[in-house]
Amino acid sequence: MGISITSLGDRIAHEHEGYVGAYLRDGSLTGSSSREIDAAKTGKLTAACACDWRSDRTWDNDANTAGGWPSDALEDEILTDWYDHVYAVADGERDRHIGHLTMMMARIGRQYGRGSLDLDNLDDLERDLASALDRVKQIRRPSDF
Ligand SMILES: [Zn+2]
Repeated sequence: MGISITSLGDRIAHEHEGYVGAYLRDGSLTGSSSREIDAAKTGKLTAACACDWRSDRTWDNDANTAGGWPSDALEDEILTDWYDHVYAVADGERDRHIGHLTMMMARIGRQYGRGSLDLDNLDDLERDLASALDRVKQIRRPSDF
């Protein structure tokens, strides 16, 4: 129903699917459409996400009826708020992964300084570092390419 950004990693793409939500007369939000649902729409729209996040801004639907589909231009404008949300999530996740990688490297440095780093058996270390680095690399904004 909505959009997701696969370059931000599978978890974020799966949990954060954005859509244009339409407010119903009972105050709830929907991304669905049917004759009954469309008749209950107020004409107020907002950006929403599968994780339950929603923008605090609203837009007036520019369709002929309150329940009609908004124009592509309006949809793009509304989804800008969702992009800000999902990029903030991705930035936080990447910061967390970089923090983990940094702590691993600091621990390796301390072990080396104490002479306790097993330089003859670096396979586990190589695997752990590659895995941590891979998690950082999985989160890429389209502008990172
Ligand atoms: Zn979300």
